[in-house]
Amino acid sequence: VQEDQLKTGIILQGIGGYYEVLDAAGRVHTCNARGKLRQEVGKPLTGDHVSFLPAKDQQNGRIEHIRPRKNQLVRPPAANIDQMIVVITAGVPAADLLLLDRLLIQAEQWEMEAVLCINKCDMDEDGRVEEGIRREYAATGYPVLSVSAKNAEGIDNITARLKGKVTCFAGQSGVGKSSLINLLLPGEEMETGGLSKKLARGRHTTRRTQLLRAGPDTFIMDTPGFSLFETNIGDPELLQEYYPEYRSYQGQCRFNGCLHDREPDCAVRQAVAEGELAKGRHERYRTLLSEAREQWRRQYD
Ligand code: GDP
Ligand code: ZN
Repeated sequence: VQEDQLKTGIILQGIGGYYEVLDAAGRVHTCNARGKLRQEVGKPLTGDHVSFLPAKDQQNGRIEHIRPRKNQLVRPPAANIDQMIVVITAGVPAADLLLLDRLLIQAEQWEMEAVLCINKCDMDEDGRVEEGIRREYAATGYPVLSVSAKNAEGIDNITARLKGKVTCFAGQSGVGKSSLINLLLPGEEMETGGLSKKLARGRHTTRRTQLLRAGPDTFIMDTPGFSLFETNIGDPELLQEYYPEYRSYQGQCRFNGCLHDREPDCAVRQAVAEGELAKGRHERYRTLLSEAREQWRRQYD
Protein backbone atom coordinates (compact mmCIF):
# COMPACT_ATOMS: atom_id res chain seq x y z
CA VAL A 1 0.00 0.00 0.00
CA GLN A 2 1.20 3.46 -0.86
CA GLU A 3 1.03 5.50 2.30
CA ASP A 4 0.24 8.66 0.35
CA GLN A 5 -2.99 7.11 -0.90
CA LEU A 6 -4.30 6.67 2.61
CA LYS A 7 -6.92 8.87 4.18
CA THR A 8 -7.59 9.31 7.86
CA GLY A 9 -10.96 9.04 9.52
CA ILE A 10 -12.94 7.96 12.55
CA ILE A 11 -15.08 4.81 12.79
CA LEU A 12 -18.74 5.72 13.30
CA GLN A 13 -19.90 2.15 13.64
CA GLY A 14 -19.15 -1.43 12.74
CA ILE A 15 -21.56 -3.91 11.20
CA GLY A 16 -20.51 -7.50 10.72
CA GLY A 17 -16.89 -6.90 9.76
CA TYR A 18 -17.63 -3.66 7.87
CA TYR A 19 -16.96 -0.23 9.23
CA GLU A 20 -18.36 3.17 8.43
CA VAL A 21 -15.47 5.59 8.44
CA LEU A 22 -15.97 9.36 8.40
CA ASP A 23 -13.17 11.19 6.57
CA ALA A 24 -11.92 14.72 7.28
CA ALA A 25 -14.13 16.12 4.51
CA GLY A 26 -17.24 14.70 6.17
CA ARG A 27 -17.77 11.80 3.78
CA VAL A 28 -18.64 8.33 5.02
CA HIS A 29 -16.73 5.37 3.56
CA THR A 30 -17.64 1.73 4.00
CA CYS A 31 -14.48 -0.23 4.74
CA ASN A 32 -13.34 -3.64 5.79
CA ALA A 33 -10.17 -4.25 7.76
CA ARG A 34 -6.78 -5.40 6.48
CA GLY A 35 -6.37 -9.11 7.24
CA LYS A 36 -3.53 -8.87 9.73
CA LEU A 37 -5.00 -5.90 11.60
CA ARG A 38 -7.00 -8.04 14.00
CA GLN A 39 -3.95 -10.05 14.98
CA GLU A 40 -1.89 -6.92 15.45
CA VAL A 41 -4.20 -4.67 17.45
CA GLY A 42 -7.52 -6.49 17.68
CA LYS A 43 -10.86 -5.63 16.21
CA PRO A 44 -11.44 -2.05 15.05
CA LEU A 45 -13.83 -0.26 17.41
CA THR A 46 -16.38 2.51 17.12
CA GLY A 47 -14.41 5.70 17.84
CA ASP A 48 -11.11 4.39 16.46
CA HIS A 49 -8.98 6.83 14.50
CA VAL A 50 -7.84 4.96 11.43
CA SER A 51 -6.05 5.37 8.16
CA PHE A 52 -7.68 3.63 5.25
CA LEU A 53 -7.33 3.06 1.57
CA PRO A 54 -10.41 4.61 -0.03
CA ALA A 55 -12.14 2.95 -2.96
CA LYS A 56 -14.58 4.02 -5.65
CA ASP A 57 -17.97 5.33 -4.57
CA GLN A 58 -16.79 5.31 -0.97
CA GLN A 59 -17.46 1.56 -0.89
CA ASN A 60 -14.99 -1.29 -0.29
CA GLY A 61 -12.32 0.79 1.35
CA ARG A 62 -9.79 -0.92 3.58
CA ILE A 63 -8.65 0.07 7.04
CA GLU A 64 -4.86 -0.20 7.17
CA HIS A 65 -3.89 1.18 10.59
CA ILE A 66 -5.51 2.03 13.90
CA ARG A 67 -4.04 4.90 15.90
CA PRO A 68 -3.19 4.15 19.55
CA ARG A 69 -6.29 4.46 21.72
CA LYS A 70 -6.79 6.94 24.51
CA ASN A 71 -9.16 4.52 26.22
CA GLN A 72 -11.09 1.42 25.37
CA LEU A 73 -14.46 0.22 26.60
CA VAL A 74 -15.35 -3.44 26.49
CA ARG A 75 -19.08 -3.16 26.91
CA PRO A 76 -20.13 -1.36 24.80
CA PRO A 77 -17.14 -1.88 22.50
CA ALA A 78 -15.85 1.63 21.78
CA ALA A 79 -12.64 3.64 21.92
CA ASN A 80 -11.46 7.21 22.46
CA ILE A 81 -14.40 8.51 24.45
CA ASP A 82 -13.39 11.91 25.84
CA GLN A 83 -16.26 12.69 28.10
CA MET A 84 -19.12 11.16 30.06
CA ILE A 85 -22.26 13.15 30.81
CA VAL A 86 -24.07 11.47 33.66
CA VAL A 87 -27.76 12.29 33.62
CA ILE A 88 -29.89 12.33 36.76
CA THR A 89 -33.17 14.10 37.35
CA ALA A 90 -34.64 16.69 39.68
CA GLY A 91 -37.95 14.84 39.26
CA VAL A 92 -38.68 11.20 38.49
CA PRO A 93 -36.98 8.83 38.59
CA ALA A 94 -35.39 10.28 41.73
CA ALA A 95 -31.63 10.63 41.44
CA ASP A 96 -29.82 7.42 42.35
CA LEU A 97 -26.67 8.94 43.79
CA LEU A 98 -24.98 5.58 44.39
CA LEU A 99 -25.32 4.82 40.68
CA LEU A 100 -24.12 8.33 39.91
CA ASP A 101 -21.00 7.76 42.02
CA ARG A 102 -20.34 4.44 40.31
CA LEU A 103 -20.54 6.12 36.91
CA LEU A 104 -18.23 8.92 38.03
CA ILE A 105 -15.72 6.32 39.22
CA GLN A 106 -15.99 4.61 35.87
CA ALA A 107 -15.33 7.90 34.07
CA GLU A 108 -12.26 8.48 36.26
CA GLN A 109 -10.98 4.96 35.58
CA TRP A 110 -11.35 5.47 31.85
CA GLU A 111 -9.81 8.93 32.09
CA MET A 112 -12.86 10.65 30.68
CA GLU A 113 -13.96 14.12 31.68
CA ALA A 114 -17.15 13.86 33.71
CA VAL A 115 -20.11 16.24 33.69
CA LEU A 116 -23.25 16.02 35.83
CA CYS A 117 -26.49 16.87 34.10
CA ILE A 118 -29.61 17.41 36.20
CA ASN A 119 -32.53 16.97 33.82
CA LYS A 120 -36.27 17.52 34.40
CA CYS A 121 -35.68 20.75 36.31
CA ASP A 122 -39.21 21.67 35.20
CA MET A 123 -40.41 19.16 37.81
CA ASP A 124 -38.50 20.92 40.60
CA GLU A 125 -40.34 24.22 40.89
CA ASP A 126 -38.67 25.62 43.98
CA GLY A 127 -35.29 24.27 42.83
CA ARG A 128 -34.69 22.44 46.09
CA VAL A 129 -33.80 19.07 44.62
CA GLU A 130 -31.33 20.66 42.24
CA GLU A 131 -29.86 22.69 45.08
CA GLY A 132 -29.35 19.58 47.20
CA ILE A 133 -27.56 17.73 44.41
CA ARG A 134 -25.35 20.75 43.66
CA ARG A 135 -24.35 21.00 47.31
CA GLU A 136 -23.55 17.29 47.45
CA TYR A 137 -21.18 17.52 44.46
CA ALA A 138 -19.76 21.04 44.85
CA ALA A 139 -16.42 19.85 46.26
CA THR A 140 -15.87 17.35 43.46
CA GLY A 141 -15.27 20.08 40.90
CA TYR A 142 -17.36 18.30 38.28
CA PRO A 143 -19.39 20.76 36.20
CA VAL A 144 -23.09 20.55 37.03
CA LEU A 145 -25.62 21.53 34.35
CA SER A 146 -29.30 22.04 35.12
CA VAL A 147 -31.58 21.42 32.15
CA SER A 148 -35.05 20.52 31.03
CA ALA A 149 -35.32 18.48 27.86
CA LYS A 150 -39.06 19.00 28.00
CA ASN A 151 -38.79 22.81 27.87
CA ALA A 152 -35.51 22.76 25.90
CA GLU A 153 -33.91 24.77 28.71
CA GLY A 154 -30.19 24.80 29.41
CA ILE A 155 -29.41 22.77 26.30
CA ASP A 156 -26.88 25.35 25.03
CA ASN A 157 -24.76 24.66 28.11
CA ILE A 158 -24.52 21.01 27.08
CA THR A 159 -23.79 21.95 23.45
CA ALA A 160 -20.89 24.11 24.62
CA ARG A 161 -19.42 21.15 26.52
CA LEU A 162 -19.66 18.81 23.52
CA LYS A 163 -17.54 20.83 21.05
CA GLY A 164 -14.58 18.94 19.63
CA LYS A 165 -15.16 15.89 21.80
CA VAL A 166 -16.63 12.42 21.75
CA THR A 167 -19.19 12.27 24.54
CA CYS A 168 -21.21 9.41 25.95
CA PHE A 169 -24.36 9.74 28.03
CA ALA A 170 -24.91 7.52 31.03
CA GLY A 171 -27.60 7.22 33.67
CA GLN A 172 -30.53 5.07 34.64
CA SER A 173 -33.39 4.42 32.29
CA GLY A 174 -36.03 7.15 32.09
CA VAL A 175 -33.83 10.10 33.08
CA GLY A 176 -34.11 11.60 29.58
CA LYS A 177 -30.90 10.61 27.79
CA SER A 178 -32.63 9.96 24.46
CA SER A 179 -34.64 13.18 24.76
CA LEU A 180 -31.45 15.16 25.37
CA ILE A 181 -29.52 13.48 22.57
CA ASN A 182 -32.31 14.27 20.13
CA LEU A 183 -32.17 17.94 21.13
CA LEU A 184 -28.40 18.02 20.74
CA LEU A 185 -28.26 16.64 17.22
CA PRO A 186 -28.46 19.21 14.44
CA GLY A 187 -31.96 19.77 13.11
CA GLU A 188 -31.30 19.22 9.42
CA GLU A 189 -31.40 15.75 7.98
CA MET A 190 -27.86 14.77 8.69
CA GLU A 191 -26.15 11.72 7.39
CA THR A 192 -24.91 9.28 9.98
CA GLY A 193 -23.35 6.39 8.20
CA GLY A 194 -25.53 6.86 5.17
CA LEU A 195 -28.76 7.02 7.13
CA SER A 196 -30.80 9.99 8.16
CA LYS A 197 -30.73 11.09 11.77
CA LYS A 198 -34.22 9.78 12.31
CA LEU A 199 -33.38 6.37 10.98
CA ALA A 200 -30.15 6.31 12.92
CA ARG A 201 -32.04 6.96 16.12
CA GLY A 202 -34.58 4.38 15.11
CA ARG A 203 -31.78 1.86 15.04
CA HIS A 204 -31.33 2.39 18.75
CA THR A 205 -33.29 -0.79 19.10
CA THR A 206 -30.72 -2.75 17.09
CA ARG A 207 -28.34 -2.34 20.01
CA ARG A 208 -25.40 -1.13 18.01
CA THR A 209 -22.86 1.30 19.36
CA GLN A 210 -22.44 4.27 17.06
CA LEU A 211 -21.13 7.78 16.95
CA LEU A 212 -23.65 10.44 15.96
CA ARG A 213 -22.37 13.72 14.55
CA ALA A 214 -23.41 16.68 16.64
CA GLY A 215 -21.12 19.12 14.79
CA PRO A 216 -17.65 19.34 13.24
CA ASP A 217 -15.34 17.05 15.24
CA THR A 218 -18.16 16.64 17.73
CA PHE A 219 -19.74 13.28 18.40
CA ILE A 220 -22.24 11.67 20.71
CA MET A 221 -21.82 8.00 21.39
CA ASP A 222 -25.20 6.38 21.19
CA THR A 223 -25.59 3.01 22.79
CA PRO A 224 -28.56 1.54 24.60
CA GLY A 225 -26.80 -0.74 27.05
CA PHE A 226 -24.35 1.75 28.41
CA SER A 227 -26.31 2.90 31.42
CA LEU A 228 -26.57 -0.66 32.65
CA PHE A 229 -22.98 -1.83 32.48
CA GLU A 230 -21.49 -3.62 35.45
CA THR A 231 -18.98 -1.61 37.35
CA ASN A 232 -15.90 -3.22 38.72
CA ILE A 233 -14.23 -0.90 41.15
CA GLY A 234 -11.18 -3.11 41.45
CA ASP A 235 -8.51 -2.57 44.11
CA PRO A 236 -10.15 -1.05 47.23
CA GLU A 237 -6.98 0.90 47.96
CA LEU A 238 -7.32 2.74 44.67
CA LEU A 239 -10.96 3.73 45.15
CA GLN A 240 -10.16 7.05 46.83
CA GLU A 241 -8.13 8.13 43.81
CA TYR A 242 -11.34 8.30 41.82
CA TYR A 243 -12.74 10.94 44.19
CA PRO A 244 -11.25 14.25 43.04
CA GLU A 245 -12.27 16.02 46.24
CA TYR A 246 -10.31 13.52 48.39
CA ARG A 247 -7.06 13.90 46.49
CA SER A 248 -6.14 17.19 48.10
CA TYR A 249 -6.23 15.53 51.54
CA GLN A 250 -3.56 13.03 50.56
CA GLY A 251 -0.77 12.95 53.11
CA GLN A 252 -2.84 14.71 55.76
CA CYS A 253 -4.23 11.60 57.46
CA ARG A 254 -2.31 10.03 60.34
CA PHE A 255 -1.75 6.78 58.50
CA ASN A 256 -0.03 6.43 55.21
CA GLY A 257 -2.45 4.59 52.97
CA CYS A 258 -5.46 5.70 55.03
CA LEU A 259 -8.64 4.64 53.21
CA HIS A 260 -10.74 7.29 55.00
CA ASP A 261 -12.93 4.56 56.49
CA ARG A 262 -12.52 3.97 60.24
CA GLU A 263 -8.92 4.97 60.70
CA PRO A 264 -8.21 7.45 63.52
CA ASP A 265 -7.12 11.00 62.67
CA CYS A 266 -8.38 10.83 59.12
CA ALA A 267 -8.32 14.23 57.42
CA VAL A 268 -11.14 13.30 55.04
CA ARG A 269 -13.45 12.17 57.83
CA GLN A 270 -12.62 15.31 59.75
CA ALA A 271 -13.50 17.44 56.71
CA VAL A 272 -16.79 15.56 56.46
CA ALA A 273 -17.51 16.19 60.16
CA GLU A 274 -16.79 19.88 59.67
CA GLY A 275 -19.06 20.08 56.66
CA GLU A 276 -16.25 20.82 54.19
CA LEU A 277 -16.98 17.58 52.34
CA ALA A 278 -20.40 16.06 51.66
CA LYS A 279 -21.53 13.47 54.19
CA GLY A 280 -23.72 11.48 51.81
CA ARG A 281 -21.01 11.16 49.22
CA HIS A 282 -18.61 9.90 51.91
CA GLU A 283 -21.18 7.36 53.17
CA ARG A 284 -21.60 6.09 49.63
CA TYR A 285 -17.81 5.98 49.27
CA ARG A 286 -17.69 3.68 52.31
CA THR A 287 -20.46 1.51 50.85
CA LEU A 288 -18.48 1.14 47.64
CA LEU A 289 -15.28 0.56 49.61
CA SER A 290 -16.78 -2.40 51.46
CA GLU A 291 -18.19 -3.69 48.19
CA ALA A 292 -14.72 -3.45 46.63
CA ARG A 293 -13.16 -5.25 49.60
CA GLU A 294 -15.74 -8.00 49.35
CA GLN A 295 -15.12 -8.42 45.61
CA TRP A 296 -11.38 -8.35 46.15
CA ARG A 297 -11.64 -11.04 48.84
CA ARG A 298 -13.76 -13.28 46.65
CA GLN A 299 -11.35 -12.86 43.78
CA TYR A 300 -8.12 -13.55 45.67
CA ASP A 301 -9.04 -15.87 48.56
P1 GDP B 1 -33.87 7.60 28.70
O1 GDP B 1 -34.40 6.25 29.08
O2 GDP B 1 -32.85 8.07 29.67
O3 GDP B 1 -33.37 7.67 27.28
O4 GDP B 1 -35.10 8.63 28.86
P2 GDP B 1 -36.09 9.22 27.73
O5 GDP B 1 -35.46 10.26 26.93
O6 GDP B 1 -36.72 8.07 27.02
O7 GDP B 1 -37.18 9.93 28.66
C1 GDP B 1 -37.97 9.22 29.60
C2 GDP B 1 -39.27 9.98 29.86
O8 GDP B 1 -39.00 11.23 30.50
C3 GDP B 1 -40.02 10.33 28.58
O9 GDP B 1 -41.40 10.14 28.82
C4 GDP B 1 -39.70 11.79 28.35
O10 GDP B 1 -40.73 12.46 27.67
C5 GDP B 1 -39.58 12.30 29.78
N1 GDP B 1 -38.67 13.47 29.89
C6 GDP B 1 -37.46 13.61 29.33
N2 GDP B 1 -36.92 14.81 29.65
C7 GDP B 1 -37.82 15.43 30.45
C8 GDP B 1 -37.83 16.70 31.13
O11 GDP B 1 -36.91 17.52 31.06
N3 GDP B 1 -38.92 16.97 31.89
C9 GDP B 1 -39.97 16.12 32.01
N4 GDP B 1 -40.99 16.49 32.78
N5 GDP B 1 -39.99 14.92 31.37
C10 GDP B 1 -38.95 14.57 30.60
ZN1 ZN C 1 -7.99 9.34 55.73
